[in-house]
Amino acid sequence: MASNKPTKLDALAIAAHRDDIEITCGGLMIKLHDLGHTTGALDLTQGEMGTLGDEEDRAREAGAAAEIMGLSYRGNLAFPDAAIEYDRPSRIKIAQVLRDTRPELVILPYWQQRHPDHLTAHLLGFDACFLAGLKKLDELSGEPHRPRKIIYCSSFRDIKHSFYVDITEQKERKDRAVSCYKSQFAQGEASRNIFAPGHNIHEYMEHTQRYYGQRVGVTYAEVFSIKENILIDNPLTMPVKSI
Ligand SMILES: [Zn+2]
Repeated sequence: MASNKPTKLDALAIAAHRDDIEITCGGLMIKLHDLGHTTGALDLTQGEMGTLGDEEDRAREAGAAAEIMGLSYRGNLAFPDAAIEYDRPSRIKIAQVLRDTRPELVILPYWQQRHPDHLTAHLLGFDACFLAGLKKLDELSGEPHRPRKIIYCSSFRDIKHSFYVDITEQKERKDRAVSCYKSQFAQGEASRNIFAPGHNIHEYMEHTQRYYGQRVGVTYAEVFSIKENILIDNPLTMPVKSI
């Protein structure tokens, strides 16, 4: 069961709203769990400004989704919904969670976003990864820690993504995790989708993940971007056919 007390993690996803992680990297989170890694989620807001549902609904839904994804930790920093500030106190709070959970991999929102909270979550998350590693920062308790790798969820962006992850085995559980957010994505209400207004979220995920999958020769895939380059040892074993 996902605890709200920080515990040592291999991977931590950070996002603005309680359903962001499920939708943008839920397949990867489930896959990491399947591979034996310890995973967690840090939601920055409680969803009090959402048109649909309230904080309690969203908390219950997030707990149920965490179970399906196999998360060991799910924290919430209760930053103001639709008004996350890009300021030092916010950076420090996230950095403290990073020190307390010590993930090797951090998963953040991509650096271009439509929703201001998503962009601020990206900026705060990146800064916090840096700050958490500073030895002399006395605003933080615990040992310095900097994640080795940061990747960015880049679905919903019409760009050349850095890499794809096969989520064919995880797709059904990802759908169930997103379905936990009944207050946001009630069945049959095509317009309930803050990510792609006017589209049913499940149809949207089905189409995009199938399209991404087809581009790399699997049934369903999620997409990610990185800022650095990819180094490989042996091109002969690279997946995905060229012709
Ligand atoms: Zn969001």
